[in-house]
Amino acid sequence: MIEKIFVTEAAAKYDYTKEICDRAGLEPEFIRDDTAYRKEVERFLSDPVGQGKRHLLLDVFKGEFFRKCPGTKGKVCCNYYVIDQTTNCPFDCSYCFLQSYLNLRAIRFAVNVGDLFRELEAVFKKHRFVRLGTGELADSLALEPLTGFGSKLMNFAVEFPGVVLELKTKSAYVENLPDVHGKPGRGVIGWTMEPSHVVALEERGTATLDERLEASAIAAEKGYGIAFHLDPVVFFPGFEAAYLELVEEMFSRHRTLDWMSLAGFRYEPSLKGYVEERFPGSELLDGEFLRCSDGKYRYLFPERIRFFRRLVKKVKQLSPKTPVYFCMEDARTWDLVMGENALADPVLEPIFSREGNDEKQGM
Ligand code: SF4
Repeated sequence: MIEKIFVTEAAAKYDYTKEICDRAGLEPEFIRDDTAYRKEVERFLSDPVGQGKRHLLLDVFKGEFFRKCPGTKGKVCCNYYVIDQTTNCPFDCSYCFLQSYLNLRAIRFAVNVGDLFRELEAVFKKHRFVRLGTGELADSLALEPLTGFGSKLMNFAVEFPGVVLELKTKSAYVENLPDVHGKPGRGVIGWTMEPSHVVALEERGTATLDERLEASAIAAEKGYGIAFHLDPVVFFPGFEAAYLELVEEMFSRHRTLDWMSLAGFRYEPSLKGYVEERFPGSELLDGEFLRCSDGKYRYLFPERIRFFRRLVKKVKQLSPKTPVYFCMEDARTWDLVMGENALADPVLEPIFSREGNDEKQGM
């Protein structure tokens, strides 16, 4: 998966750098910094997006790692915090917004995790309840066999009461995660779930659906809460039956989830060219889309609502206690699918309440 490791001058002195290079069995190439990578490596690549995903750049991050998830303009926010320790991902999903978002094509991995843990400790001590994850600009466990970072972070975070750390992935790399039974904090492993048709067509390099389900059973045995994300829901011929069947499979493995999120496929105009050029067999852009108030294209509103209603009804039949929420959908969608008081649900309220959190998103 990783073919080359680049090490910046700042990262060269860290033991963690050596640990990763040894595990990879690769001789590192030393480089001044990320700018040098751009100028001396990236601009000579014939397929910078694809090849960059096979380059690991070990670096030192000097800013703050911890931030509020930006959500999206005009959509209901789930008050999630993110850790930006890794950016980019060795997997290659056609719908991945990172293709048009990132301005550095290698996978940048910050080895100064001691700085991260110091920053997190201060945050965890200050906040009564924090729900956070690493899966915003990367897959949380895609590099786990090489870096072991998910385990390091989990070991650290679950020692703090009130902390809920979610590692979100499309991999099956859970064997080395620590057992978290009896810890004061909560560890959750979240999987993006898609019908096999979508996994095969749109999610290159990821674990199969069966592997994800199997890994979720192993994680549950280790004491983790399980979350599933039907995000993005992709419309293709037969998609309704495929997603309803998927939901049945999910709840045949887990009676209740810590949470489940839903979101239809949406895209920024800048993503379209990448999908067309890099994924000629993709069915992603075949549906009918409308540009929404946040500038993103989404499936037609009535179609989204109609299908989400069926999906949520099915989930509630199979697992009434599983909290279901929408990611990046507006309050009208919530009302129409979940009923007018959905956000007052006792499980969802502490997550979505704008009053219930110590810090607010400025939107
Ligand atoms: S797994 Fe996530 S981060 Fe990685 S390519 Fe797919 S969508 Fe992007």
